[in-house]
Amino acid sequence: MTTTVFPAPALPCLPVRGSSAQFPVHRIYCVGRNFADHAREMGATVDRGNPVFFMKPADAIVPGGGRVPYPPGTRDLHHEVELVVALGRDAHGEVATADALSLVFGYGVGLDLTRRDLQAAAKAKGMPWDTAKGFDCSAPASELVPVAEAGPVSTRRLWLEVNGQLRQQSGLDQMVFTVADVIHELSRLYVLKAGDLVFMGTPAGVAALVPGDQFRAGVDGLVEFGGHIA
Ligand code: MN
Repeated sequence: MTTTVFPAPALPCLPVRGSSAQFPVHRIYCVGRNFADHAREMGATVDRGNPVFFMKPADAIVPGGGRVPYPPGTRDLHHEVELVVALGRDAHGEVATADALSLVFGYGVGLDLTRRDLQAAAKAKGMPWDTAKGFDCSAPASELVPVAEAGPVSTRRLWLEVNGQLRQQSGLDQMVFTVADVIHELSRLYVLKAGDLVFMGTPAGVAALVPGDQFRAGVDGLVEFGGHIA
């Protein structure tokens, strides 16, 4: 057995519907500008040839939602509700689009929390988005629903309510890059592994969250979760 110089931290995990076993999170990949209406509201255009990717640390997960601390260093925390895709198998090299869905373990819903002010400053200087996107507790996410139970997701509706008011909603058929497209493109850039999560991008309606806000997010007929900003 390997000894470690201090106790190794527990793996970040998500609950799995219908199972006492948890899903251990390896990496969190995120897709930017995957809904044309959101790209427009951000003053950007969708590049249909090149998806925008960025990452969050695995331990940014807030499993099952609940209490989400308001992060330091921002005065403009934004919600982005997103479909979450969980991979249950390792890829071996580049994955063809036609084979990509065979890697999927299940689906959930999550929030890609964003320090919008830091992102705007980074964009203005042509600098990376890491401090805007990859902070602690920036990825609250639901339980995962295994594919056999989930069925096809592309026909379902993604939504987010804050304090009971609908803030974001869209059919998942509005995604510019499908789940299979995104897995294919990621596999050309990274070694994809079981345990990887992909946050699939958000539709229009992103806006601020403040301490005390209650959120509830879901994909119709699939999964829901909620929490509050503390
Ligand atoms: Mn996003």
